Amino acid sequence: MNCDRKEAIKAVLARKENCSDTELSPFTTENYGEDVFHFSRIKDHLPKPVYQTLMDTVAKGKPLDPSIADAVAHAMKEWALKKGATHYTHWFQPLTGATAEKHDSFLEPVANGQAILAFSGKNLIVSEPDASSFPSGGIRSTFEARGYTAWDPTSPAFIKRGRNGATLCIPTAFCAYAGEALDKKTPLLRSLQAISQSIRRLMKCFGNDGTQTARISLGPEQEYFLIDEHFYYARPDLVQTGRTLFGAPPPRHQQLDDHYFGAIRPRILAFMTDVDSALWRLGIPAKTRHNEVAPAQFEIAPVFEDLNLAVDHNMLVMEVLKQTAEKHGLICLLHEKPFSGVNGSGKHNNWSPMYGDINLLNPGSDPHQNAIFLTTLCAIIMAVDKHSDLLRSATASAGNDHRLGANEAPPAIISIFIGEQLTDIIDQIEKGSLKTSKHASNMRIGVDTLPALPRDTTDRNRTSPFAFTNNKFEFRAPGSSQSCAEPVIMLNTIVAEAFDQISDELEKLSPENFNQGLQSILRKIIKAHKRIIFNGDNYSEAWKKEAEKRGLPNFRTTPEAMKALIDPENIALLEKYHVFTEVEAKSRYEIFMEEYHRKIRIEGELSLNMARTVILPAGSKQLAELVKTIAVLSGCELKGGQLSQKSAAEAIGKLLDGIEMECRNLERILAQTDPSAKIVESMGKLRQLIDTLEKRVDDDLWPLPKYREMLFIN
Ligand code: ADP
Ligand code: MG
Repeated sequence: MNCDRKEAIKAVLARKENCSDTELSPFTTENYGEDVFHFSRIKDHLPKPVYQTLMDTVAKGKPLDPSIADAVAHAMKEWALKKGATHYTHWFQPLTGATAEKHDSFLEPVANGQAILAFSGKNLIVSEPDASSFPSGGIRSTFEARGYTAWDPTSPAFIKRGRNGATLCIPTAFCAYAGEALDKKTPLLRSLQAISQSIRRLMKCFGNDGTQTARISLGPEQEYFLIDEHFYYARPDLVQTGRTLFGAPPPRHQQLDDHYFGAIRPRILAFMTDVDSALWRLGIPAKTRHNEVAPAQFEIAPVFEDLNLAVDHNMLVMEVLKQTAEKHGLICLLHEKPFSGVNGSGKHNNWSPMYGDINLLNPGSDPHQNAIFLTTLCAIIMAVDKHSDLLRSATASAGNDHRLGANEAPPAIISIFIGEQLTDIIDQIEKGSLKTSKHASNMRIGVDTLPALPRDTTDRNRTSPFAFTNNKFEFRAPGSSQSCAEPVIMLNTIVAEAFDQISDELEKLSPENFNQGLQSILRKIIKAHKRIIFNGDNYSEAWKKEAEKRGLPNFRTTPEAMKALIDPENIALLEKYHVFTEVEAKSRYEIFMEEYHRKIRIEGELSLNMARTVILPAGSKQLAELVKTIAVLSGCELKGGQLSQKSAAEAIGKLLDGIEMECRNLERILAQTDPSAKIVESMGKLRQLIDTLEKRVDDDLWPLPKYREMLFIN
């Protein structure tokens, strides 16, 4: 790979001409999900009672019966072998933020130099990866390194294909030996259990029998950048940190709004089609693909699915995006802010609670459904207002700090957008007189019908961190690289609490007083929590002031936001819903903070390193050339040239000295303990100087690929 900037440009242009199409398997309904071990597929291969027992676990959440494991494992192995798998792995999501896998071959040597292919029930149910190097936040000291992965039968096994082989992947949870969660799936499943119980309880209050399955739907929209690999490998900052630490925004970037929803260029479309093909085989319902706001930025969104599956699928989508990009000579950047000055990337978590076929956030058309809808809406308003700190903590990361509040993404202040019409209804409930244009008299919750909400009025505010859009809430603050798990774990837990608080009250009501009682419960909630509702422009300065007046917290940075995880009241809530124990919550705080400090330190060290070994040498070369020219000029009787050369030399000299001074400062800071805030500040200053220098140095001498190249040439 060539690391010279001009060579990189040439290589990109040459590749464009050579770009050929890849062979893809056809998108047929028959091969949709063909690499997924769906239980419906093996129905015929399992004894009936075994299948029934398995489905009790998969569909109804009953504990797994270990006696059926051998039969299921056998069927799974036979299927995987037919798919060409040679290995299997427990696939899990440790607290590194990535997924983890350790492959084991099906191979088992037997006597006489022979071998069989084996996969037992035990192999399926548990595995003991050497866990010593995964973050545990002190839960497990390295000498007690044992951790184990446990099969999650609610997320089907799948085949991961490589260039010349395939692996059976079994989604698993990852725990320490004493049972503490060391991953993202375990608390996710716990939070799902908590909210399922709360949904069923609430629905019983509304006259349902509470026997239907309660679930959460999740549809994560994933944003990402694509740049040519030649540029990537010529930028040590992208390779090491996933974002550009330097780079002056070019005169033209996104201000013409010509990229958003624009025609997708052939090379990118070839990539997207390849991605869709891989997802098709994996049964991941990728639905939309389009150009995003920033140049070289794109989005993919699937159709929503059951929460646990949707979270696993999003982890796979990120992996497929990265791997497919490399096949196409591209690099997929999932960092929240790879380029300063243009939009960063988020991951909108579209979330809704379900009971059987009823979406609790569907306004519906009959009084009963309307009452459920308004109750759910109020529960969420209460939950988010009481616990916005927990939601904020779940979006905090070194990368997302650059995005939240940067006038392109929601601010760090959490508020809820519900649109004018719903606000009007909420206001009326608060006043105790729900009047609508349709109803001359007061409208009573649970008796009358809400006016239909036109689709468009609810989804046009793109600045809100938490917006009601038609029949779901869209949590927009989470960052593009993070797992959906954290945000939804918190959302599930706080809404479970709110549902329970409402059920506590509703259960006391007699049937005759139900509607009236409900109305007054909702009125109380609205009175207490309506400050969290904001339908205006979340990017504006005025909102920051207004939010402060309303007493809404504004945790600007990760260290501020993360404190919510160790707040005793929050820990009590998480413990009450069996989502985290105190030890787990505190360990997560340790892990995330450590990760944050490490990332900032890496960026600081790289900034210093690049400034000294890449930027200063280029600037000095330029200065030397200018000085040489000035010397030559002073020896001849030319009437021009002195001014331009001297002023350029002076400006560059000053910048170089400024850079040197800031490097010394940064070096000093890096020698201190826990200096993240100072590193961030110093890196900002250094960047400003270097970006100014970039605009003055001879284009031929500038060593790093520029923004206009990375963002526009591909
Ligand atoms: P928009 O956000 O512009 O309204 P869509 O309606 O297409 O866009 O939805 C974006 C994402 O939200 C998609 O992944 C979609 O499947 C998902 N989604 C739609 N309805 C729900 C729902 N009830 N619960 C969860 N996600 C949903
Ligand atoms: Mg979007």
